[in-house]
Amino acid sequence: MTDIPKDHPRYDSLITREKIVEGIKMGITSQQGLVAQGRGESFDYLLGEKTTRSAAIAERAAVAHILLAENPIISVNGNTAALVPDSLVALADVCGATLEVNLFHRSVARIHRITQVLKSHGAGKVLGGKAEKRLDLSHDRAIVEEEGIFSADVVLVPLEDGDRCEKLVEMGKTVIAIDLNPLSRTSLSATVSIVDNVTRALQNMIQFAKDMKHEKHESLLSVIEEYDNNVVLSDTLYIIEENLKSNAKSRGI
Ligand code: ATP
Ligand code: MG
Repeated sequence: MTDIPKDHPRYDSLITREKIVEGIKMGITSQQGLVAQGRGESFDYLLGEKTTRSAAIAERAAVAHILLAENPIISVNGNTAALVPDSLVALADVCGATLEVNLFHRSVARIHRITQVLKSHGAGKVLGGKAEKRLDLSHDRAIVEEEGIFSADVVLVPLEDGDRCEKLVEMGKTVIAIDLNPLSRTSLSATVSIVDNVTRALQNMIQFAKDMKHEKHESLLSVIEEYDNNVVLSDTLYIIEENLKSNAKSRGI
């Protein structure tokens, strides 16, 4: 990995890029993953590169859904495996969720390598290797495991493709997306849209899960009932607008 000086103003963002490049070299991330990361970064810039108040509300509601779920699944792709393998494993552990590898650019070798990376970070069961069921989609993200995404009631999909997100919602599942673009088809169709960098979102969710784990069923249910995804998305757009205005103003534009 290139040595990035810690005092660089864009340290976090540059380290994230390095991890994606490393993921490509290890054969776990696709080259297209670089482009997806770039698209995400541009929205992160507009969000001020921090968790917004509405992202925190979405993260809390997401954790309530996962803690109450019968069969919660965390979908893992090549970007998240490169960026946050430890957080994926920690969140699955603290919430009792199962990890399932699911790739757009699917190959048996890549699924195996990602599974090994997750296991080396302490994962127990990792699904995704068996091509048991197919969602009604024409690309390989359609391939899922019967005991995993196919039968899940709650699915966490960091960096999801819009059409699969829509399909999972159509199947009656609660879909939690993590996507920096508040206007992507994914964000617009998910049940809970977390507009935050996956690196921050998962950390926050792990902390929420530790805090909320022993709460009563009714109190978790009320977190879900009080949540309104449209309010969260429109507040996110408002925050972006305000950030743009104050940025322009401070630079005298
Ligand atoms: P959609 O299919 O939902 O309309 P898209 O085609 O714009 O979205 P994809 O290429 O399918 O996007 O998936 C990449 C998405 O992941 C982008 O919306 C991007 O903002 C988001 N993304 C990339 N990197 C990160 C990250 N580190 N954290 C959170 N989101 C990210
Ligand atoms: Mg897409």
